[in-house]
Amino acid sequence: MENTALRFACNGCGVCCKGRLIPLTLQESRQWLQRGHDVAVILEAFDESLWPADSEKFKHNAKRASQIHSGNAKINVIAIFAANALTQCPNLDDQDRCGIYEERPLVCSIYPAEISPFITLDPANKVCPPEVWEAGEIIVSDREANPSLQVKIAQSRDEDRLDAHAKVAICESMDMTVAAWKENALAVYLPDRQSLMTALNHSDSEIRRVGHTSWRVRIEDHELRETVGSRGVQIDTAELSSYIFHKL
Ligand code: SF4
Ligand code: SF4
Repeated sequence: MENTALRFACNGCGVCCKGRLIPLTLQESRQWLQRGHDVAVILEAFDESLWPADSEKFKHNAKRASQIHSGNAKINVIAIFAANALTQCPNLDDQDRCGIYEERPLVCSIYPAEISPFITLDPANKVCPPEVWEAGEIIVSDREANPSLQVKIAQSRDEDRLDAHAKVAICESMDMTVAAWKENALAVYLPDRQSLMTALNHSDSEIRRVGHTSWRVRIEDHELRETVGSRGVQIDTAELSSYIFHKL
């Protein structure tokens, strides 16, 4: 879809604060846990068979990932820490207003703009009601976000890159070492709040030791599993799992 100019004026309906996982930086994850709320962890894996190594998609995602061992292969894992708002965000008050508006996560202040450079903002893919696209400031013009949004989007991408290694190391320390294959499925963990807080509090010291574990990848599509497995990647075959496997 080609964008010309998209106007947007949030009406504060709170619909975007319900039924979702909200990606957080490491620092935001700490704050979220300190407020007594839950943080989910989403793990995705990929290698250059998904996108060529010299493609923009591979380079962009590799910066958000940490390279780890799986069986006889090296693959990239992205760990996304996300506020659990699957029912609704715990900060939403009974008027459907954000109770931490001034301190809300970066991604909340970017929505409905897109953070991924490979996704074009399309109102049809957003939960906002139709009327909010008819007034307000221009947020996107010819696929470029407005300058203030661009600053936030750049900050979000930077935080993703800066946190990538530590997030994967935290997952290793908590035995969350099965990822789903990117663009095929998500492996979603719902770790105990206190255990995750303890791991996060150690993340500046001894926990940054990625590479001590052989990671596994969960793939349910037979053909894809054979293809990825044939490259030496260790496939998770356990009948019981400590994560939710969410097929895309
Ligand atoms: S932190 Fe605030 S803006 Fe973000 S999802 Fe929760 S209620 Fe909505
Ligand atoms: S769904 Fe859209 S209009 Fe409603 S609060 Fe969220 S960003 Fe604003």
